[in-house]
Amino acid sequence: MIWTWQSDIRNENKADDEERFQNKRIQRKNVMKIGIMNNPSKSVHDEVAFCGKARFDFLDLTIEGPNASTVDVVKLRPILDFHGLSVTGHTDPCLPHAYPVQGIREACLKELERCARTFSALGARVMNIHPCYFCPPAMRNDLVAFNIEALKPIVGMAATHGLTVVIENYKAPFDRVSTFKKLLAAVPGLQLHLDFGHTNFGPDNHEVFCGELGKHIQHVHFSDNRSRTDDHMPLGVGTVDWKNAVNSLKATGYDSTITLEVFCNDPDMQYKYLDMSRKRVLELWN
Ligand SMILES: [Zn+2]
Repeated sequence: MIWTWQSDIRNENKADDEERFQNKRIQRKNVMKIGIMNNPSKSVHDEVAFCGKARFDFLDLTIEGPNASTVDVVKLRPILDFHGLSVTGHTDPCLPHAYPVQGIREACLKELERCARTFSALGARVMNIHPCYFCPPAMRNDLVAFNIEALKPIVGMAATHGLTVVIENYKAPFDRVSTFKKLLAAVPGLQLHLDFGHTNFGPDNHEVFCGELGKHIQHVHFSDNRSRTDDHMPLGVGTVDWKNAVNSLKATGYDSTITLEVFCNDPDMQYKYLDMSRKRVLELWN
């Protein structure tokens, strides 16, 4: 069957429904879950239906424009439930939440609380955040300190909604273990969201992150690239050593959510690339 982004849940027959739920029950016996992220340029409802029909375990729900900046919880929850999908929270990577102007930080905190309410209402337990790189040029040396200051109230706010904030590794200086050790030590409750694609173009690779900070990892992203840019290619196409990556992750005792952050403009190929990547993870994991 060819899956499309425009799939309509009403076209499913009952036999398919039963088979889907049986499969979900089998998958749920394993704690490790494989999910995908909604494309914020498309309808969230269509994206959830695609995720469910493709039999992923959870949706990495990103709240960002142009079409996913507001999420109707009342409409979305029944679609998630129909497909047996859980949710993990992903926030807009461009929010200037640590910019050293109090009014901007407060506005971002308010926006992040709006996201936290949505994630919490959908049953999420983890909310991602990205490092903030926005800063006046003459204050760049204080970038990590600004992030630490801003993250403290964000982590506290999220906790009141039952959410753990996980910060995602990306570009310098948030591409090395030493920076994350500072962040995690300075912000109680903050945990690590390890993006394996991103570790492929930083100074510390996935093995180093897993070895040094394994106990803090609470969510991961998998996608491939050729060590130059964040290509979000299917697993095996780029230069990430996935056998080593999965072994490194498993060695930390991790047994939770893995998002396949693989993107492609062609909707039919998108499904095929995601399915190939899922099969690769399962082969290596089991
Ligand atoms: Zn990522």
